[in-house]
Amino acid sequence: WQMLSDRIRHVEPSATLAVDSKAKAMKASGIDVIGFGAGEPNFPTPDYVVDAAAQACRDPKNHRYTPTAGLPELRRAIADKTLRDSGYAVAPEQVVVTNGGKQAVYESMQILLDPDDEVIIPAPYWTTYPQAVRLAGGVPVTVFAGADRGFEPDIDQIEAARTPRTKAIIVNSPSNPTGAVWSERTITEIGRWALDHHIWVISDEIYEHLHYDGVDTTYIGAGVPELRNQLLVLNGVAKTYAMTGWRVGWMIAPEPVAKAAAKLQGHLTSNVSNVSQRAAIAAVGGNLDAVVAMLRAFDRRRAAIVDALNAIDGVVCPTPKGAFYAFADVRALLGRALGPNGSNAETSAQLAELLLDEAHIAAVPGEAFGAPGYLRFSYALADDQLDFGMHRFAAWAGAAR
Ligand code: PLP
Repeated sequence: WQMLSDRIRHVEPSATLAVDSKAKAMKASGIDVIGFGAGEPNFPTPDYVVDAAAQACRDPKNHRYTPTAGLPELRRAIADKTLRDSGYAVAPEQVVVTNGGKQAVYESMQILLDPDDEVIIPAPYWTTYPQAVRLAGGVPVTVFAGADRGFEPDIDQIEAARTPRTKAIIVNSPSNPTGAVWSERTITEIGRWALDHHIWVISDEIYEHLHYDGVDTTYIGAGVPELRNQLLVLNGVAKTYAMTGWRVGWMIAPEPVAKAAAKLQGHLTSNVSNVSQRAAIAAVGGNLDAVVAMLRAFDRRRAAIVDALNAIDGVVCPTPKGAFYAFADVRALLGRALGPNGSNAETSAQLAELLLDEAHIAAVPGEAFGAPGYLRFSYALADDQLDFGMHRFAAWAGAAR
């Protein structure tokens, strides 16, 4: 271990993937684990997308390298989709197709940051952001807003975190892990603040279509048009079209920034698999019917999980307005005798471990998101599994009392 670089030794592994892989390993060994861990829709990828991929496999032109930044047809389809959904025009040359949204996050940091540059990350945050900042030699600076504030930071908090080294801020609304959808006011205030102080905005819009109760996603590039010269929008097909495993995401940025990302990617992974890119053309070039159907199911599960969590003594869960995560405050469960063995958890990380080992349900501890004392439950699993898992949680939490 000592022989590895400082850079990699200072990076934490992905906690969400770790919970998911432990749960999957337990399942493989015959234990009936219910997985609230992974941010992965349980629906199949729509047929028309799979068909486009199947055809692409047989077409020899897809057997060769293509431009690093992506197939021209896909970059065009992403530009068109951005106009349709976000309401403003971007050129295909501004689009870089990446191996999932995750690679777009990594590349953003690599191309924007010099050593010790600071990136403001509103917490609770998606677990990858601070690690991607560290991997680029930067310094993550977190600004926390808890359940009492709807997990939405205000501009005063953000301004208080600004220093001469602040290079960028991350916006992720709808949010993983909280499911919060930030108000138009907060988002436009952040955009104007970033403009005033020459700070890059990295807006991760991967959950753009998943929102409920009439609440809409605010696109920062639409709300503050002047910001587009210092805006990187990150997105992907994973969550909208149930395509997590296909690994297609993208970055939209001012052209010189997009060129820089493509240069980096040219030394990193080259083009995304052509078969996946062809599938993505069908997905983003098509309509949003598939997501509408998924949304109906997510909405139903959202109501069920929020009710079930709040019915457990010691758990408080605000109703999320977006994505497919419930972010529950479990601080009142800590230090209590729990489960048939009267086990005790001092931290949410220990609680998540107990839940997995004793109740056989997988949830991700808030520590992974800069929010100790919380647990994240993905409700992208089947309804009956969700109900069954919540019964298990309630029975386990109540067993010692
Ligand atoms: N951004 C956020 C906020 C996410 O939650 C995820 C996945 O969990 C991603 C980006 C990346 O998704 P992918 O790399 O699967 O496209």
